[in-house]
Amino acid sequence: MLDCLFCKIIQRSISAKLVFEDNDAVAFEDINPQAPTHVLVVPKKHVSSLAETTDADVVLLGRLQRTAAALAAKLGLSSGFRVVANNGRGAGQTVEHLHYHLLGGREMKWPPG
Ligand code: 5GP
Ligand code: ZN
Repeated sequence: MLDCLFCKIIQRSISAKLVFEDNDAVAFEDINPQAPTHVLVVPKKHVSSLAETTDADVVLLGRLQRTAAALAAKLGLSSGFRVVANNGRGAGQTVEHLHYHLLGGREMKWPPG
């Protein structure tokens, strides 16, 4: 996708602080962190949102969540962490390339705002 911010980060035409990369995904620090640890786990394949995924993406979605859990362990979030996918403008999605937020390092409130 030519005009997608996260595709540009994946292609390295925009820089980001990468913390993980494999064949399917990258993870990098959020530019506007909402917690001491705030990492975005992003599939290399462009899919605009969770709602746009299909059954063909089931394995990919599982990998993204496992990546988030493995990163939480690697980053020392032993007291807890949150994994969030905002879907659609009304839920706060601002970048239309599927991503999971991995948040930790502070007490998390429920329900989220
Ligand atoms: P959303 O609002 O779509 O759920 O999450 C998009 C996230 O991307 C936001 O938390 C925002 O701070 C982050 N973000 C937006 N632009 C950039 C950027 O250029 N670089 C990085 N690293 N994060 C970004
Ligand atoms: Zn994209």
